[in-house]
Amino acid sequence: MLPPPSEPSECQSLLTPPPPPSGWHAVASLPPLPLPDRRARASQAALGALLVASLAASLAAATAAAAPPPRAAAWLSLVAAEAAAALGCLLGLLLADPGALRRSPERCFPLPPRVEAAVRRGAPLRSNVEEGGRTFCVRCLVWREEGEAAHHCATCGVCVRDFGHHCAVFGRCIAGKGFRGTRGYFKGIIAAGAAGVATPFTLLLVEGLLQEEVCEWCELAFRRGRRRRAAGGCEPPSQCLIFMIVSILVCLNLCCPFRKCLRLVFDACVR
Ligand SMILES: [Zn+2]
Ligand SMILES: [Zn+2]
Repeated sequence: MLPPPSEPSECQSLLTPPPPPSGWHAVASLPPLPLPDRRARASQAALGALLVASLAASLAAATAAAAPPPRAAAWLSLVAAEAAAALGCLLGLLLADPGALRRSPERCFPLPPRVEAAVRRGAPLRSNVEEGGRTFCVRCLVWREEGEAAHHCATCGVCVRDFGHHCAVFGRCIAGKGFRGTRGYFKGIIAAGAAGVATPFTLLLVEGLLQEEVCEWCELAFRRGRRRRAAGGCEPPSQCLIFMIVSILVCLNLCCPFRKCLRLVFDACVR
């Protein structure tokens, strides 16, 4: 009969190395994440907020100055709605997660052998590790899977999925697809800005068309009497029309199906 297995002695347990940490303990034992450039992010975000706020205030002032009293409230409501949309998108852009790849056992492990050796030694790592279509970021210590289109943002100190660029005006990564990430908010700010700039020009054009007598609004905006018709009323200023067309094209260009159509037409013309 075999003797029952004996308990490991105190000496044996001291000689055996402890098992390597696993799961979230292993994640916690990794070197700390690179620090974001908080100063740059804060100053860039302040610049973006100042830009949006000053543009909204200037456009509201221009609209208030040019709108005739009977319809002033309607025009100002339109500018206020555009300003609210821009500020809402700005808030979303500043607060939303652009799609940062967070550390987790699945994201971080297994570490590539070269990285594991360097982490043990505490040595710095320079180049990322490519393996079968996926990449290991040696700064965040995370795997970026194939098709994630992830990139490491040095300012934010993190890898971001579907990365577009780091916006130096708003201090955030512009990334994501559809309603995910920050790309939608960024496009929203641009669209609201284009609509806001187009509004005073649209006001001049519409109010000019509605005027039966001499157009006061074109006189305000352009040289006195230059655009006046002999029969009274107002000829739409060509600057307004050009600007409106450009604004509409800018807004439409933000819409993907329209861009695809443009590309198809362009390709057909080039061929
Ligand atoms: Zn990274
Ligand atoms: Zn960034």
